[in-house]
Amino acid sequence: MDKIEILISEEEIYNRLDEIAKQIDIDYEGKEIRLICVLKGSLFVTCELAKRIKTPVTFDFLTASSYGNETITSGNVKIVNDLSEDIHDKDVIIIEDIIDTGITLDNLIKLLKQRNPNSIEICTLLSKPSRRLINVDVKYIGFEIEDKFVVGYGLDYMQKYRNLPYIGVINNS
Ligand code: IMP
Ligand code: MG
Repeated sequence: MDKIEILISEEEIYNRLDEIAKQIDIDYEGKEIRLICVLKGSLFVTCELAKRIKTPVTFDFLTASSYGNETITSGNVKIVNDLSEDIHDKDVIIIEDIIDTGITLDNLIKLLKQRNPNSIEICTLLSKPSRRLINVDVKYIGFEIEDKFVVGYGLDYMQKYRNLPYIGVINNS
């Protein structure tokens, strides 16, 4: 077993999601939101955020995959499991677990914009600004963190630890 230190507790996450949901309700008043969950990492944040949003929402899911080097995202982002419904004229919020280099989201947003949504914004639970290679316009950010590899709350290390209810850092030293 790896030793995992808590970086952001479940309570801190919940408090921040309360705030973000309130802001989304203000920003989308009178509208309907299409929430796009980017699998698998955004599963928990999508559920917990959606539960707090009072504006009408519908859900869709996609899986993006990048090929090449494993530690740094390659430019070749592909949608391996596409959305089940059209987003034409919809007000879309893409929900991400973490933005690291920004490459995945930059590619994804370009692909989705070609489908002519009415609007498209990004919400991410975590952001590592010091790692950014491509600037992406992110409207809602849960927490900015240092350049540490984190797990939990949807995020994995070799597919493990996604179910931890907090954000943790692996520390085996
Ligand atoms: P980007 O294209 O570099 O922004 O890559 C973002 C993706 O890399 C995320 O959706 C995660 O799947 C993965 N990732 C980046 N940093 C971490 C981390 O600290 N823990 C777990 N996954 C991460
Ligand atoms: Mg991801």
